[in-house]
Amino acid sequence: KVVIGILALQGAFVEHKTALEKLPLARKLEVIFVKTPDDLGRCDALIIPGGESTTIALLARISGVLEPLREFVKSKPVWGTCAGAILLSQVVENAKKGGQELLGGMSITIARNGWGSQVESFEAALDVEGLRNPEDPFTGVFIRAPVVLKLTPSPDDPPIKVIAKLSPNLLPPSLASPGHSEEPKIFVALRQGLHFLTTFHPELTNDNRFHEYFVRECILGSNNK
Ligand code: GLN
Repeated sequence: KVVIGILALQGAFVEHKTALEKLPLARKLEVIFVKTPDDLGRCDALIIPGGESTTIALLARISGVLEPLREFVKSKPVWGTCAGAILLSQVVENAKKGGQELLGGMSITIARNGWGSQVESFEAALDVEGLRNPEDPFTGVFIRAPVVLKLTPSPDDPPIKVIAKLSPNLLPPSLASPGHSEEPKIFVALRQGLHFLTTFHPELTNDNRFHEYFVRECILGSNNK
């Protein structure tokens, strides 16, 4: 079986386990909660859930799992949702005073709480690569979500693929600018090599297509380098 760990220090980790266990592929998986370096040592892949990124990083440091996580990210598939997406980024803006420890893994700059107070939390139909069925759109749940500001892969990095976008019309005025349909601000799901990032929470809906994607493409896929 493939062992998928869910970092279980804070945030929406139980919901990810429930979603993984509902997949048609579930019998090929063992899903465990990760709280210690030993737990992490058993994993073939990891999900970092949404919650509060500063708190998760602090708890990771206290429990001795922060440096092992940094090593893990270098060679194994990792999916970050929301706060987890922040931790997977290379650079963060709007970090809390005292700073934010990151794991890296995705060559992007992200802004915490990037939607501002008016639209801190919202739901929106997403434009998803390979899943453009208007009858059956995927609804993204965004909760004080981060915003992708820049893609910064260096020539040696795997390319970044945009997996899901938000309609440019949904951008709050503070983020909107003309000619924005290719702007990183509307990118809400990205894949880079083994890693996957969603700024929304697929585990809070009953739609498991993103869980299926991570398992099939990033973990089991042969074409995942
Ligand atoms: N705003 C949170 C943070 O900055 C993320 C919110 C979430 O994970 N839903 O860490």
